[in-house]
Amino acid sequence: MVETVVIVGRPNVGKSTLFNRLVGRRQAIVNKTPGLTRDWREGMADLAGLEFRVIDTAGLEEAFDDSLQARMREHTDRVVAEADLVIFLFDARTGVTPMDSHFADWLRRQSSPVVVVANKCEGAFDIAGISEAYALGFGDPVAISAEHNEGFADLFAAILPWTEASTGQDATEDQAVEREAPPLQLAIVGRPNVGKSTLINKLIGEERMLTGPEAGVTRDAVAVDWSYKLQPLRLVDTAGQRRRARVSDSLEKLSVGDAERAIRFAHVVVLVLDAEAMLERQDLSIARQTVEEGRALVIAANKWDLVADKKAALERLRDRLQTSLPQVRGVPFVTISALNGQNLERLLDTVLDIYGAWNRRVPTARLNNWLGLVSEDHPPRMDRGRAVRLRYITQVKARPPTFAIWATRPKSVPDSYIRYLENRLRDEFDLDGIPLRLHLRKGRNPYATDR
Ligand code: GDP
Repeated sequence: MVETVVIVGRPNVGKSTLFNRLVGRRQAIVNKTPGLTRDWREGMADLAGLEFRVIDTAGLEEAFDDSLQARMREHTDRVVAEADLVIFLFDARTGVTPMDSHFADWLRRQSSPVVVVANKCEGAFDIAGISEAYALGFGDPVAISAEHNEGFADLFAAILPWTEASTGQDATEDQAVEREAPPLQLAIVGRPNVGKSTLINKLIGEERMLTGPEAGVTRDAVAVDWSYKLQPLRLVDTAGQRRRARVSDSLEKLSVGDAERAIRFAHVVVLVLDAEAMLERQDLSIARQTVEEGRALVIAANKWDLVADKKAALERLRDRLQTSLPQVRGVPFVTISALNGQNLERLLDTVLDIYGAWNRRVPTARLNNWLGLVSEDHPPRMDRGRAVRLRYITQVKARPPTFAIWATRPKSVPDSYIRYLENRLRDEFDLDGIPLRLHLRKGRNPYATDR
């Protein structure tokens, strides 16, 4: 049986854009619902290797305006009833509208599981809509931009457990466990010859990829699953190793493109460095990109066995990290020898740790206690003689941890103060090395009236 995912939502939230993104160049089929004038589209989606049937209900919802509820039932009922999973899409820029809430009420009464997805979250988006989505009652919203192709790794992670659960005829206990712990998606990236293939071989304990001093020896490698300390892991993309054969003279350029792809689908990115030439321009560009994409970064300084003066090398690495990656203080690094298998456990422990922090949710009460102390301790400077007050903070999402602070005169708060707040957050809530996001919004505690 093919798993079916249905995209629903009010008009203009981006259902078709998401559908097109998922189906890509594959053929979409246009269906007619017997007895109805509306069409709906379906196609096979491929989301980082995860295949499922996807249905776009755009077109089914256009007649909603006159009599929302009746129409919705008539048109969407049958499609939703068939679904293994419903993607409930809303427009994060507009926020949750009454029609969205209506939709949510109705969906809650259906039997299919629902993932709520906040669309139009590209770039430095306004997160108002995301925080509102919790009120819909479907758990963590997944933030994406269908148009700009962002957030698809999170969408993947949100969909995966449901599709896996529905493939077995009868769900065993094992599957139930697996459903609770979707795999940590790991990317191993770095310049050519730093030792990525050697490391991957050692980690998964099989000679799936051949390594050697000459380019072109690596065989095809697709996603590889294994587990470490009960945490399922998935190596998301090893294209960097795969395509090496064909690019002998543009190696440098290609590896950056591959890294981009891998980073986008990863939760945690291990950037492998050659300990004898660490944090060169290209290394840094991969590191920065990882952070910009909001992924957790771990640095593996490889070939440590070849380093003569280890103490000096460590100091150099620490310095360079501090000066070159000011966006994220405290990026963890581990010195390893992929060849000898040295320190690989520590590397994986570090990966698990940072993944935990990247997923962390800090309770709102603790955050507000903290905010009170910090703004007393070191308040933002005045804006034309008037105090800037930080009134309320909440974590609007995890992966990466994203916080919103409601303040008076937020525009007058300088970046340096925001960086200061980020670092204090890191100290207080154990978020070192995590690419935090912190947005300032104008106004009072937005939830005060709800309580
Ligand atoms: P990739 O291009 O990043 O996948 O690099 P490879 O894994 O193919 O490794 C390039 C070369 O470095 C090979 O000759 C490996 O044997 C060697 N190498 C990898 N890791 C280590 C290490 O920890 N120590 C030493 N001395 N050599 C290594």
